Amino acid sequence: GAMRHLPYFCRGEVVKGFGRGSKELGIPTANFSEQVVESFPPDISTGIYYGWACVGNGDVHKMVLSIGWNPFYKNIKKSVETHIIHTFKEDFYGEILSIVIVGYIRPEKNFDSLDSLISAIHEDIEEAKRQLDLPEHLKLKEDNFFHLPEGKIVNNH
Ligand code: ADP
Ligand code: MG
Repeated sequence: GAMRHLPYFCRGEVVKGFGRGSKELGIPTANFSEQVVESFPPDISTGIYYGWACVGNGDVHKMVLSIGWNPFYKNIKKSVETHIIHTFKEDFYGEILSIVIVGYIRPEKNFDSLDSLISAIHEDIEEAKRQLDLPEHLKLKEDNFFHLPEGKIVNNH
C-alpha cells in the first residue's frame, strides 16, 4: 500500500483541478493530469504523504501531497495533488512539477467541519516539515532527479 513504492519520483504538467476551493482555504494544491495519475502504481494507498517538490527548474521545497478519489470520475479514479510549502508570486498552471514522495502521514479522512479539515492539514504540514528535516529525508532534496533537463518526463526512474 503506502510505503512499498517510496521514495516515488514523478514529474508532469500542472493542470486545472476541480475547483474544490483549496486556494481559498490558503492551501492551494497543484493537480497532475489524469495521464500522470494513471502512471502511478495502482495499489498505492490513498492518503496524505510528504516529500519534495520543484516547479520547472526552480528551487526544491517541502510539500504535502494527497492521493485521493477523484469526484470527477465518480471516485473510481485517483487524483494526485501537491501543496508546496512555499509562497509563490504567481500560479504555475502548465508548468512541469517534479516531486519525490518520501513518506506517508495518514489515510484519507472525513471531517465534520471545514475548521477541523483545515487544522488537520496544518498538522500534516507541520509533520511534513519535521520529517523532511531528518538527514535521511533531507538528502533526497539534493537528488539529481531535480536537475534533469526540464521537459523530460520521468516516472520513477
Ligand atoms: P485547482 O482546483 O485548479 O487545482 P487550487 O485552488 O487547488 O486550484 O490551486 C492550485 C494552483 O495554485 C496550482 O495549480 C498553482 O498554479 C497555484 N499555486 C500557488 N501556490 C501554490 C503552492 N504553494 N502549492 C501548490 N499550488 C500553488
Ligand atoms: Mg488543486
